[in-house]
Amino acid sequence: MTRIELESIACQSCGAAQDPGRFRKACPDCGFGRFRVRVARHTRGFDPSAMEIRLEWLLWFGELAPLIQAAVDGPGTMVPFHSWTSKDDLEHVSGEEVARFLTHPETDRRNLYRRWMRERVEAGLRDNQKICNRCELIFVAHANTWHREAYCSRKCFELDTQSQRVGR
Ligand SMILES: [Zn+2]
Ligand SMILES: [Zn+2]
Repeated sequence: MTRIELESIACQSCGAAQDPGRFRKACPDCGFGRFRVRVARHTRGFDPSAMEIRLEWLLWFGELAPLIQAAVDGPGTMVPFHSWTSKDDLEHVSGEEVARFLTHPETDRRNLYRRWMRERVEAGLRDNQKICNRCELIFVAHANTWHREAYCSRKCFELDTQSQRVGR
């Protein structure tokens, strides 16, 4: 379970703090339309991907499986129950996108956040680096078909082109 929210919004130009409850797409003080935002993600719950749990245990015990497995395997083998907050500062986010974030439900927020982070990563890539269209791995591009199409591997390339063919 993840909750994602804008912890603070400040005008990129004059630095004035913006009230999320009455956000306008431009700064009321200076009229600038881009903002510095701090995105907070609160995550809480059970994350099976955080450890390797024996599948049969998961089937039998559900969310209790990690606890039981830890009791058997000893401490230090797991942190599947988690609760943490991570914060990211993003610059030059348009007023349009901030407004969209503030008024849209959780799933849309997550997609927006993903896109913002992706743009940020892309801006920092070296010329020969690309992000895989399918799995989002960052890779160094060589002269082959799948790298040219921005897939990290032949497998990702084929999986995507196959699913597109099925979708047609
Ligand atoms: Zn301003
Ligand atoms: Zn890939």
